[in-house]
Amino acid sequence: MKAGHDITVVDNFFTGVKANVEHWIGHANFELIHQDIVNPLFVEVDEIYHLASPASPPHYMFNPVKTIKTNTIGTINMLGLAKRVGAKVLIASTSEVYGDPEVHPQPETYWGHVNPIGPRACYDEGKRVSETLSYAYAKHEKVSVRVARIFNTHGPRMHMNDGRVVSNFILQALRNEPITVYGSGKQTRSFQFVSDLVDGLIALMESNYTQPVNLGNPTEHTINEFAKIIKDLVGGESQIISKSAVEDDPQRRKPDITRAMTYLNWKPKVGLKEGLKMTINYFKEELRKSQNKTQ
Ligand code: UDP
Ligand code: UDP
Repeated sequence: MKAGHDITVVDNFFTGVKANVEHWIGHANFELIHQDIVNPLFVEVDEIYHLASPASPPHYMFNPVKTIKTNTIGTINMLGLAKRVGAKVLIASTSEVYGDPEVHPQPETYWGHVNPIGPRACYDEGKRVSETLSYAYAKHEKVSVRVARIFNTHGPRMHMNDGRVVSNFILQALRNEPITVYGSGKQTRSFQFVSDLVDGLIALMESNYTQPVNLGNPTEHTINEFAKIIKDLVGGESQIISKSAVEDDPQRRKPDITRAMTYLNWKPKVGLKEGLKMTINYFKEELRKSQNKTQ
């Protein structure tokens, strides 16, 4: 919108909230449609960012069939829309297409290691089919597709009940509750800040590069290290405690971002602690607002 584009936001508000876009409501270039893309959508657009689907494990496991529908029927609808109006379409894929990876760090050429019937399959296989559909429409219908494989991301406007590690640890630390590490805590993740992701998505849409591109920050930490980093940044009295491991939890994850650097001239700019401080400030403010409401 700041670049002068007209924007139509389409959301079913399963994990999104209207408050996240309320500052745009009433702006001449902004339109909000309350709809689920599992149903056909007829609008006239030049570019489609298909970001639908819950991405947090507890959210996508809450209704696995719905997650699959969003990533299959929803993706077909977005590709059908792109085909009809001649729009470019960017599909939000995920590092989960690599499953519990045997190759480290993960380059886009790696085919992945996914359990097709495990608890994460609705999301992992849903996104894999989303990619397959994209290249089928590109080949047979000449739709111009971009595929972003998004790695763990955090930042302001995450949901308080998101359920993923960053928001859980920050909220636990802010409330002086135990910080819950699942399993040994030796599993790793690499976290990027949301503004880097947005820059990467726009750069990918504007590029002529049509193969999948990893977007993530290669700074890798174990979950134990991560618990300590957050506890140190937030302060407070929380203990770090161990909870049972979750099934099929990927043990190592770190993007190889050579493609994004080569073809998009993109790399993350925001350091881990710098980004975490902004996310912590956001959650502090959200907690303050929710406490005011209950008083
Ligand atoms: N579709 C949509 N908006 C459009 C055009 C198509 O939602 O502007 C949906 C349409 O309902 C269809 C799907 O996208 O179910 C796939 O469209 P496509 O043209 O590929 O398939 P077809 O309609 O030929 O089955
Ligand atoms: N995790 C954790 N405690 C939590 C939430 C998550 O230890 O309260 C771990 C989880 O087991 C995984 C990592 O943190 O190894 C990242 O999990 P998340 O749900 O954030 O996303 P994922 O990368 O698995 O999709």
